[in-house]
Amino acid sequence: MNERQLIEYLTTFITPDTKGLIRGIGDDCAVIQKDDHLVWLLTMDTLVEGVHFDAAFHSPDKLGRKIVSVNISDIAAMAGKPMFMLLSIGMPAGFDATWFKSFVRGIMDACHEYGCQLIGGDTVANPNGLVCSLTVIGEVAPDLVVYRHGARPGDTVWVSGSLGFAAAGLALLQRTFEPHNRRWQPFREQHLDPVARVEVGQKLGASGLVHAMMDLSDGLATDLAHLCRQSGVGAKISFQALPGIGALKEVADAIGGDPEEWAVRGGDDYELLFTTAADAGDQLLAIGSSCGLQLSPVGTIVAGREVTLIRTQADGTQEEKVITYQGFDHFREKDEG
Ligand SMILES: [Mg+2]
Repeated sequence: MNERQLIEYLTTFITPDTKGLIRGIGDDCAVIQKDDHLVWLLTMDTLVEGVHFDAAFHSPDKLGRKIVSVNISDIAAMAGKPMFMLLSIGMPAGFDATWFKSFVRGIMDACHEYGCQLIGGDTVANPNGLVCSLTVIGEVAPDLVVYRHGARPGDTVWVSGSLGFAAAGLALLQRTFEPHNRRWQPFREQHLDPVARVEVGQKLGASGLVHAMMDLSDGLATDLAHLCRQSGVGAKISFQALPGIGALKEVADAIGGDPEEWAVRGGDDYELLFTTAADAGDQLLAIGSSCGLQLSPVGTIVAGREVTLIRTQADGTQEEKVITYQGFDHFREKDEG
């Protein structure tokens, strides 16, 4: 059973016509009616030592910041404003109190920066290392929420920021490659301390231009496949249009590795992925520059079901390959590739 099959199995237990429930499993957040003017957005994420982070190079304060940012990224992906959070921490007995205090300080600093309040949680003993789970609650006007299911053939596919920097940064950190060289800092920081795109998410929602949106946590190949599946469409992505691909080549030249792998299949970037009508480009570029963030068109929504990557070769010919769901999968079995 892979991650998607597991989620689809869980979804069979949801009662869609539950009073007050607007959206259950299947989007970045669950959506619940708050009052006549607002909806609640609810999301949770878990970090597991040895799976999501390596304490050898992830400082506790940045790890604390990261768990907050990855959760708030899901609120940003639905154009919401983060409001409250609940925190659950499992730690081995005899844990390092200095490490723990720094971890909590990172959580609190990030919370404060995003304007979010810690309102409760739980602590448990866990002999196998740190496990940290966070629930974030956000709010937004119901007509401004952007779901994954609104993409239409002919839409332009956009992403914020750069792709693949977190995966390249992780490769640099794992190799302890030139740890003090500032040239590699943007890559390392994208893995260690990503920023949730709350401001641009809210502006995109308020613009009314965005048909579908989600955040990039598991890599473009998988996350765009989720968005396409929810919308009943396919997509064609241009490798050459992926923002940051030139910078990734510099990392690959230094340490080896594959820029396409990092940009298309690497996860953990927490940028926004969204679609709009093809003629909305100028307005989107203006929204991006008002937030100091690059927004880049990377492809087109098409009829069909597949996500394909088009790569122009040195001789001018085009290579097209299917990349549907080829990103990060927590439960992928070896025989599934
Ligand atoms: Mg998400």
